[in-house]
Amino acid sequence: MQEMKTPNKKLAFYYVIVIAAILMFNEMARPYFEEAQIQQVDYSTFMQAIDEKKIDHVEVQSNQIVFTEKDDDKKYKTGLMNDPNLAERLDKSGATFTQDIKAEANPILSFFLAWILPILIFFAIGQYMSRKLMDRAGGNSMMFGGSGNQAKIYVPSSEGIHFSDVAGEDEAKENLSEIVDYLHNPQKYSTIGAAMPKGVLLVGPPGTGKTMLAKAVAGEANVPFFSIAGSEFVEMFVGMGASKVRDLFKQAKEKAPCIVFIDEIDAIGQKRSGNLMGNDEREQTLNQLLTEMDGFEGNTGVIILAATNRPDSLDPALLRPGRFDRRVPVELPDLKGREDILKVHGKKVKLDEGVNFHNIARMAAGASGAELANIINEGALRAVRGGRSTVTQTDLEESVEVVIAGYQKKNAILSDKEKHTVAYHEIGHALVAALQTHSAPVQKITIIPRTSGALGYTMQVEEQDKYIVTREELENKLATFTGGRAAEEVKFGEISTGAANDIEQATKMARAMITRYGMSDEFDMVAMETVNNRYLGGDTTLACSAATQEKIDKRVVELVRAQHDKAKKLLEENREKLDELAAYLYEKETITGDEFMKILHAEEEEKAEGPEEQRSTEPTEKTSYNLA
Ligand code: ADP
Ligand code: ZN
Repeated sequence: MQEMKTPNKKLAFYYVIVIAAILMFNEMARPYFEEAQIQQVDYSTFMQAIDEKKIDHVEVQSNQIVFTEKDDDKKYKTGLMNDPNLAERLDKSGATFTQDIKAEANPILSFFLAWILPILIFFAIGQYMSRKLMDRAGGNSMMFGGSGNQAKIYVPSSEGIHFSDVAGEDEAKENLSEIVDYLHNPQKYSTIGAAMPKGVLLVGPPGTGKTMLAKAVAGEANVPFFSIAGSEFVEMFVGMGASKVRDLFKQAKEKAPCIVFIDEIDAIGQKRSGNLMGNDEREQTLNQLLTEMDGFEGNTGVIILAATNRPDSLDPALLRPGRFDRRVPVELPDLKGREDILKVHGKKVKLDEGVNFHNIARMAAGASGAELANIINEGALRAVRGGRSTVTQTDLEESVEVVIAGYQKKNAILSDKEKHTVAYHEIGHALVAALQTHSAPVQKITIIPRTSGALGYTMQVEEQDKYIVTREELENKLATFTGGRAAEEVKFGEISTGAANDIEQATKMARAMITRYGMSDEFDMVAMETVNNRYLGGDTTLACSAATQEKIDKRVVELVRAQHDKAKKLLEENREKLDELAAYLYEKETITGDEFMKILHAEEEEKAEGPEEQRSTEPTEKTSYNLA
């Protein structure tokens, strides 16, 4: 803002440089141009011309002789010879002659050209390059003596995001509202001697609204909002990231009270490795961040919010009191949360009368806020494609499936045999699920191929969120996973590749039961695996001896096999139903849970089933999709 004049000054400077360069080029190049036009002759020719008195003017230069003849004004040159009588003979011939003194002409100019100008040019190029680099980096660097290429990190809070725009996440909002209150009324806190935490770490899976929450804090408190991604600090040159951190804090302190938001802080905040080959730049940046956070007093009004989905990879120094000492979990939304998020985003589109968000939320178990927003948008796009003016329930239901399983493949042509196989496979899943107690009811079965590669799927939807799952339920789920393959075996006596996804999921679940949930008699309550990134897929590391690993593998196979056998037995016992349902699905391609149940219970009495209501911290998969 205060540097509005500098561009003009800079521009003038560049003009001077360019003009000087042109001048120098002229000065240096002129002799060469002239030189090129001079014809070269032998020394003997020159001597002969002297004898014949044809010479008009001679110029003896340091390395050659340039002369003109009387009858034309062309210039000639010839090499120098050790010829002491030359002057005498020239004098006799009546020619005028001089010794060249150009080289010594104007020593100041030549000094300027030889020394000052090149330096100026290099300086100008250096300036230009560093400016280019810093423009790309978006930052300001002391290293290049740059004077105020301020980073554009200041985002006015006029975006107007408020807590009401962030649905669900009530615990996070409650936690953050204290900070809003502090920013509104810092005296209240300072009079009693309470210091606000300097840093708050928002942790949770991607797309759960961490950025939104940070913006909402700024919006609610009506203070400036500085936002920068952790990766933006990591620069090509060591030291630039650190200088960016310094800059960020300088600006923030000027604008206090304000919110500084660092997204994906794990990009710089990763545990510093002890080895010498570590990432220097990252560590310097992190050190600078730590220093800056220590540097300002508790009550300056600068609050730093940071988001990450890999909290366990953060450097402990970052998490100690006085830095990011408060941690706010931003978890995947529960059923109610999903419904609320759908409602918030539903306001942006024209909805049909009959839209029931509760059902959509139930179908979209495990979806993040970002995915739910996407579901609404996909639904709206589908409505446009269908030429409707409002978004219907079917649009939304279909878009849940699109987000989870991909688009319907319009031109995938399955052979008749394949279609039969898929129909049996899916009914196998559904039937095994339905024949066991404590399984989520089947909502939909389809054998329309999807772009994700699934040839069909069975959707089960739980009545409500489940926070703990019993061993029996897990075993039943395993049986359901194997049900597809079991049906193929029972019907065709042959197995296919269609069960690949089921196998993957079953293995993962069985492994978790043994290594993490302590559900095998052999290992009791001993953890054999630890989860690494809870928020990012949750890959695991084995924490046991090689001998134990072998045993685990054996137990996993036993567990899956037992359930697979159970599934086969169930299907064999209900062979007629299997055939009947598969034929029906083959015919209709997509059937609802109700249709399925009607056929299944055609002559049986219905079994009532009461889902238990228990809550605990770790939610598990609620809706299962048996893809393919
Ligand atoms: P994160 O920073 O956790 O990865 P974002 O805050 O960037 O996630 O959220 C991405 C998008 O998802 C938002 O722009 C918003 O549309 C949607 N979203 C996520 N969580 C919520 C929520 N709780 N309420 C409303 N919208 C949400
Ligand atoms: Zn399957």
